[in-house]
Amino acid sequence: MIKDNFGRPVLNLRISVTQRCSMRCPYCHREGQETKAEDSAIEMDTTEIIRIAKVAIELDIRKIKITGGEPLQRDDILDIVEGIAKLQGLQDLSMTTNGTFLASMAKDLKIRGLMRVNVSLPTLKEDVYRGLMGGSLTDVLEGIHASVNAGLYPVKINMVVLADVNENEVYDMIKFARESNALLQLIELEPINLSQTYYRQHHYPLDKIEAELTSHALRIEVRPNMQNRRIYHLTDGRVEVIHPTENTEFCAHCTRLRVTSDGKLKPCLMANDNLIDVLTLLRKGGTDEELRKLFTVTCRRREPYYKKGAIQVT
Ligand code: SAM
Repeated sequence: MIKDNFGRPVLNLRISVTQRCSMRCPYCHREGQETKAEDSAIEMDTTEIIRIAKVAIELDIRKIKITGGEPLQRDDILDIVEGIAKLQGLQDLSMTTNGTFLASMAKDLKIRGLMRVNVSLPTLKEDVYRGLMGGSLTDVLEGIHASVNAGLYPVKINMVVLADVNENEVYDMIKFARESNALLQLIELEPINLSQTYYRQHHYPLDKIEAELTSHALRIEVRPNMQNRRIYHLTDGRVEVIHPTENTEFCAHCTRLRVTSDGKLKPCLMANDNLIDVLTLLRKGGTDEELRKLFTVTCRRREPYYKKGAIQVT
């Protein structure tokens, strides 16, 4: 197992497979990647993605999430899923998606080896959804139901809570998730790749919601290898809260490493001054041993962002 200089084990890899996306969510952090789709024609190919996953698994990183951009925009996404799913030692393979193409793809994703899925859904109101994201809410809802029916488990709904947009929909969303056999995650807006104006206008601190949930909860579960996130078990459902901003506990328990869609290892979602290019090594015929070394170097560059206590808003 690899650990960073702060004693944090690295257990999860989040691989961004593209910057392309069919949506235009104004809050999107693009997984902290600075390059936009139009600036970044470089994408890792199927084999390169699977090779990086293989080396990560050899280093005891057993949980992999495919992200983007929108992963389902890639024509080879089923091959990527299958290639990673077949790797010896993998424990968990998931994907985060905007859900637009899920209705037609959920079954095939499951057959090829995807275990579970997270679907971004900030609102249950068709007009708000269209205005915010530019897509169809109906498609996404069908995608969620298709994923549940295909046996992807759990299906999680990712709701970024935005002031003046959807903060009054939290309890409707808890009900919707329960009725859909899905699990709800409330995510605090993170100040990454956003303008200061947008962040100030729409950041909704989740402390208030957490205080409310604490007073209703039958039980509160803490996820130690997942940034000590809390799951609130309520009489009528459950909800997980992802509350990273200014949260030193969140960073102290972070076990993630990332790969950008253009093939760079990324030690922290919030930082871009410490990336390590692995794609060039792969394209030059580098060995697995050399690749493992780059993972180790990247791991040493990991440091808890909110030990610094400063928010960088562009
Ligand atoms: N297109 C895919 C999707 O919609 O899930 C994958 C990419 S998206 C960047 C991955 C996750 O990041 C989604 O769950 C989304 O809700 C979340 N996310 C995007 N921007 C965010 C922000 N500024 N703060 C917190 N979470 C954010």
